[in-house]
Amino acid sequence: MSSTHGMYLIKLQTTLETIRPGATVLPVILSSDKTQLTLFRGKMAYPVYLTIGNIPKEIRRKPSRQAQLLIAYIPTTKFEGITNKTGRRRTLANLYHGCMRLILSPINACGETGIPMISGDGVWRRCHPIYAVFVGDYPEQVLVTCTYGNRCPKCVVPIDELGSKSTFPLRDYKEARDAYLLADGDAHAFHLACREAGQKPVFHPFWEKLPLTDVFVSITPDILHQLLQGVFKHMVSWLIGTFGGSEIDARCRSMPPNHHISIFAKGISPLSRVTGKEHKNMSRLLLGLILDLPVPNGQVSPRICACVRALLDFLYLAQLPSHSPHTLARLDDSLSRFHDNKDVFVDLGIRAHFNISKIHSLTHYISSIQLFGTTDNYNTEQTERLHIDEIKDAYEATNHKDEYNQMTTWLGRREKVQLHSSFIAWRQQSNGDPVPSSVIPIGAPGPGARSLRMAKAPARKTVSFDDLAQKYGAIDFQDALADFIARTNHPTASAAALASLASDTLIPFRSVSVYHRIKFSSPDGSKIVDSIVVRPEQKDTRGRLVPSRFDTALIRGKSPSQDHLVCGVDGKLPSMQLLFQADTYAGHRIVQVRVVFEIPNKVIQQVFMPRTTPPRYLAYVEWFSQIPLNHGSNHQLHRVSRLAPNGRRHASIIPVDYILRSVHLFPFFGPQAPRTWNTFNVLEVCNTFYVNPFSDRDNYLVLS
Ligand SMILES: [Zn+2]
Repeated sequence: MSSTHGMYLIKLQTTLETIRPGATVLPVILSSDKTQLTLFRGKMAYPVYLTIGNIPKEIRRKPSRQAQLLIAYIPTTKFEGITNKTGRRRTLANLYHGCMRLILSPINACGETGIPMISGDGVWRRCHPIYAVFVGDYPEQVLVTCTYGNRCPKCVVPIDELGSKSTFPLRDYKEARDAYLLADGDAHAFHLACREAGQKPVFHPFWEKLPLTDVFVSITPDILHQLLQGVFKHMVSWLIGTFGGSEIDARCRSMPPNHHISIFAKGISPLSRVTGKEHKNMSRLLLGLILDLPVPNGQVSPRICACVRALLDFLYLAQLPSHSPHTLARLDDSLSRFHDNKDVFVDLGIRAHFNISKIHSLTHYISSIQLFGTTDNYNTEQTERLHIDEIKDAYEATNHKDEYNQMTTWLGRREKVQLHSSFIAWRQQSNGDPVPSSVIPIGAPGPGARSLRMAKAPARKTVSFDDLAQKYGAIDFQDALADFIARTNHPTASAAALASLASDTLIPFRSVSVYHRIKFSSPDGSKIVDSIVVRPEQKDTRGRLVPSRFDTALIRGKSPSQDHLVCGVDGKLPSMQLLFQADTYAGHRIVQVRVVFEIPNKVIQQVFMPRTTPPRYLAYVEWFSQIPLNHGSNHQLHRVSRLAPNGRRHASIIPVDYILRSVHLFPFFGPQAPRTWNTFNVLEVCNTFYVNPFSDRDNYLVLS
């Protein structure tokens, strides 16, 4: 019972317990997505999926685990015979609810009485399936709740309050249900009751008789349509409306590369039909596109930056896979900041009002997270993915005539085969013993664990020190290496002593083997979660020139509050306790990585003292200034600059182990981005940057 952690389940369990002690609640999660219709020779399929909240979300998320079952296709027809628009819409709603009523009739029957079922640990339980959550976009939510468009499907907010942060009472479920129970009687009385309840006169909505259900509560946040394809999309158009496309697009082209960043080479203003994924990619960059940018014929507007920052904070916090009271308070604060600053777009004449239902929907996020758990429990992106896999495969398996029956049979058979093969897999793996469920971390969110991955063989076996200087820009490589060797051999020596030891260090080799990429994988090694590219200009297989790329990274230093050096990326303590002097490198630092290399094995004994074990992978890095504790008040970003005393970049050699993650930097463009800057040269020609906390969720948790 670990997945729908929210209070809703606890409340439901308590209610059922008083009526029927010993019950196990199965919170039923339904989803349907009309916008993802697949066309089969002019006919359309409209899938409905079912899953239950008892299944951990980690399993529910993976299509391969089949935790989401396709339970029905709802027929769609345009009812072209009905010429009256309202009448046609009403008939469509009646058809939808008629189908859903039929599909869910088994739940109706056993929701209250329960049904015996065997659970994964081999125990029989009396299970009560209760319709709890609906996952779908706004038109679907309106359809399911039988409410009117441009109104909130959850609460009684008036239209002219949709753009405020105020909250309103939830719709009265009992009143709505009582109105629908009149459907079989006098038509006039029925319509009147519906109108008074603010509901559409639908003939017996499917949820009317479902036990312990409140359809208005069951409507959950929809990150994809409400935020990414909703408020965020609006924000992008307001910003382009304010600043014009050309400066924003020039900044898109001048963003430094990073593992998590897609460079919009043509900018974002010419894009049309932008997908949710593209909006997600844009959200990683958006703040950097407007920093220090004055409005036309005016000044830099702190309110615009504050408003964008607030919306991005809301977007990132709303998607956290776990929450604490602190993160929920931050979520609430970010929504307040958005509302406090949004009127700047009215003042600029970009908007007349904000009475948009998607903006209002954000006021329901915190209570939904408290009731039903984090938003990844009810995410429409998953069903879209499922839909594409299942419907297409099913259709392909038919002879394309009388498809629906064949598709249903095909899916039914496939489910049986899948069930049987998971049973066999389970028997083979466990000899019939129950498999212990995986431990799901619960608590305040933090960056995910990761392990460093290096290629088995270097990208270049012997690169001379001259080439390191000329092609990789590591102009102080030898000095940095001498310094590194002296520090490794004399970990307790003073700074002055180290300087003299370093100048006496002889380096008995002239080349090293070099790696062009540092990768980080998830702890189980199944996927690459981050990487840092460190390579000179080269030619691809077709002889075309690929520009050099030297990514920036976050280095774990010695934080002021810790008196010991923290662990390396792989969890091992770094061997050189004093590499970072407490007074020099406090807290996390940013570097640009120039070379990743190995010292040749054959010289290790010559160079290092006996009993010292130098780390295998080393990096030559150029330092940026300390990340300041304070930040800009409206955009809340930290500013850093390259460290180049006397015009020479400050560089050193550190173990690759000290590199925590890639970090993306927003160039300091000033009022106008120099048009000679581009994604390939910007890290070299620009000196001052803002640290981008939005490159991915982990960086957001570390840097915001
Ligand atoms: Zn509402």
